[in-house]
Amino acid sequence: MTEQTPPPPTTGCRTAPVLKQRGQREVFCGLTGIIWLHRKIQDAFFLVVGSRTCAHLLQSAAGVMIFAEPRFGTAILEESDLAGLNDAHAELDRTVEQLLARRPDIRQLFLVGSCPSEVIKLDLSRAAERLTQQFAPKVRVLEYSGSGIETTFTQGEDACLAAMVPVLPSSDTRELLVVGALPDVVEDQMLGLLADLGVGPVRVLPAHRIDDEVGIGPNTVFALTQPFLGETHAALERRGARHIAAPFPFGEEGTTAWLAAIAAAFDVPEETFTRVTEAPRRRARAAIAQAAAPLRNKSVFFFPDSQLEVPLARFLTRECAMSAVEVGMPYIHDAIHGPDLDLLPQGPQISEGQDVDLQLDRCRAARPDLTVCGLGLANPLEAEGLSTKWAIELVFTPVHFYEQAGDLASLFARPLRRKAILSPRVEAAE
Ligand code: SF4
Repeated sequence: MTEQTPPPPTTGCRTAPVLKQRGQREVFCGLTGIIWLHRKIQDAFFLVVGSRTCAHLLQSAAGVMIFAEPRFGTAILEESDLAGLNDAHAELDRTVEQLLARRPDIRQLFLVGSCPSEVIKLDLSRAAERLTQQFAPKVRVLEYSGSGIETTFTQGEDACLAAMVPVLPSSDTRELLVVGALPDVVEDQMLGLLADLGVGPVRVLPAHRIDDEVGIGPNTVFALTQPFLGETHAALERRGARHIAAPFPFGEEGTTAWLAAIAAAFDVPEETFTRVTEAPRRRARAAIAQAAAPLRNKSVFFFPDSQLEVPLARFLTRECAMSAVEVGMPYIHDAIHGPDLDLLPQGPQISEGQDVDLQLDRCRAARPDLTVCGLGLANPLEAEGLSTKWAIELVFTPVHFYEQAGDLASLFARPLRRKAILSPRVEAAE
């Protein structure tokens, strides 16, 4: 593997034909986002208005002890609520009153819709307005949907952030807003790089606390750190903010391109950019070269799941020497994913949406060396001898920016290493 990333392809995948599918999907629902958002927004509480299934999903996925006073919970809709025998709004008001009386630390309350609340058409926006009036200014009540009927699991964060944008105050200050929930250690690295470049003031959405929040206006420029923030992108543009389009900060190349786009918007001199990025770029390239050895000349197939698929395919093909067979995304937004598609060398089938049986047929026919997919598909494919990587792991693990670039390559290399270790033993056992 070369130490340098290859030059941009003359023709990327931005204008490649897209296979659009609208069949059965195999993905987690948007409630999953609460698992990382409740850690990030430290004065918030996420109240899911849903069923026992929703409560079990959150409890088991988040792995939080029930006596640990977590910052999320479920207002259970009983059968009588679903049958319309109770006044669900009155019950929700009572639950919220009890919660806020018991937890004075809560400053932001998110009412999170689910499949059951959507099916009975419970109007959570009306409830949020009513409860905001009741509890303002101490508590702000917002609502969004995490229902699995329409959302994939990362869209929960998108819906949450998009719900926050309209209530942020107005501002005329020229500021950079970095949008997307990152692990604190990664966020600190990013803020350190931007400070060294002389870019500022820099704000982050979501902020840790409501008092840290910023204003938005026509002088706000924003950069996304997560490729699944389509609604938030649209909401920010409606407030007059301007998006800095860039590849996403995965790998050495993506991070450099992301920082370069911001540096250009803030007139950072080229020598400053080179001085600040030279050493971390070198470290990232070395770490990738070491971690990605098992990936070289291997093929990868992406099922649509996390919405990270296009930037990750760009990273794997250009920085880890893999070839992509199919790159599936739940949704493709040109304004958000275009810069990564420009860099993705032509060849893979780009697909949007899912018809899972047809896609499984394509995957089985291609027999890729590595398949990136959801948990529900991984085990059956492993049983058929295909190596898989769980898409959800890529969202839960710190993978952005230079210092995590080697770890990102390692995440993909691990299933291939495991297979290489196990294969001789399996053959011997047979
Ligand atoms: S929101 Fe829907 S998909 Fe998600 S746990 Fe609840 S019932 Fe299941």
